[in-house]
Parts: sequence; C-alpha cells; structure tokens
Amino acid sequence: MLRTDTREHPESAEDHEAAATAADAPEVCCELHFQRCRWCGTVAYRRSFCRACGSTAFTRERSEGSGVAVRRNGHVPHNTWFVAMDEGFNVLCQVTGTAPVAVAMGARVRVVRSVAPLGQGLPLVELTHPAPPLERWW
Ligand SMILES: [Zn+2]
Repeated sequence: MLRTDTREHPESAEDHEAAATAADAPEVCCELHFQRCRWCGTVAYRRSFCRACGSTAFTRERSEGSGVAVRRNGHVPHNTWFVAMDEGFNVLCQVTGTAPVAVAMGARVRVVRSVAPLGQGLPLVELTHPAPPLERWW
C-alpha cells in the first residue's frame, strides 16, 4: 500500500525560520546611491531610462549625502521635501529630528538613512545646521 507523507517536519521548519530571521535583519544604511548615464553623464535617481538621451545604461555611484531642500511635498506634518543633492539629482526625502515649521526652502540637509533594503520608505535627512530653538525666533 502506498502512503504519501504530507505532514511537515517541525524541526526542519523551525531551523529554516531561524536562519531566515538572521539573514533578514534590517540593514540600516546611510549610503545613498544614484545613477549616472553611461552615454551622456546625466545623473538620475531610480529611473529606468535617461531623461536626457533615453539610454537605459547607467552606472551606480555613491552620493556624498548632502543637498538642499527645494520644495515641500504633501502635507506639512509629513515633513517630506524634494532635496536637490549636490551631485545634481533630486530625491523625495523625509526630514527628521526637526519640527516641520523649522524646515525652509534652501536649507542644507544630509542623509542619515537611505531607503530600506526592499525600497520601503523615503530616505531620511536632517538639517545640517539645525534651526535655533523656537523661543529665540522672536
Ligand atoms: Zn543619457
């Protein structure tokens, strides 16, 4: 008589899970990478083709991680800004460690955490020169 064993093996399943958990530990990384077109040198961030020449060939480069907040995006409490990086590409970032009211157009920021390994969330930036406390403004 043929028997098909469909039960799972508890021990081996547990082993597999433990190994996966160790390997999937979130990697906190403050390195922001961008693309440079192989043909015309135009810089880009997460594009599938070059906006200048249409090429799909990019090299990956590491950003120095500093830039300027140029435009607020979305609602004020979210504190998300388009940041013009010094290398010439723009990234939507979330400003951390500062009240939204303290961030202004032209503020220098630096990257404190780039995106998670699976691309979740926005890169986090903070002000390079934090604004003085609110009570000193008036
Ligand atoms: Zn190009």
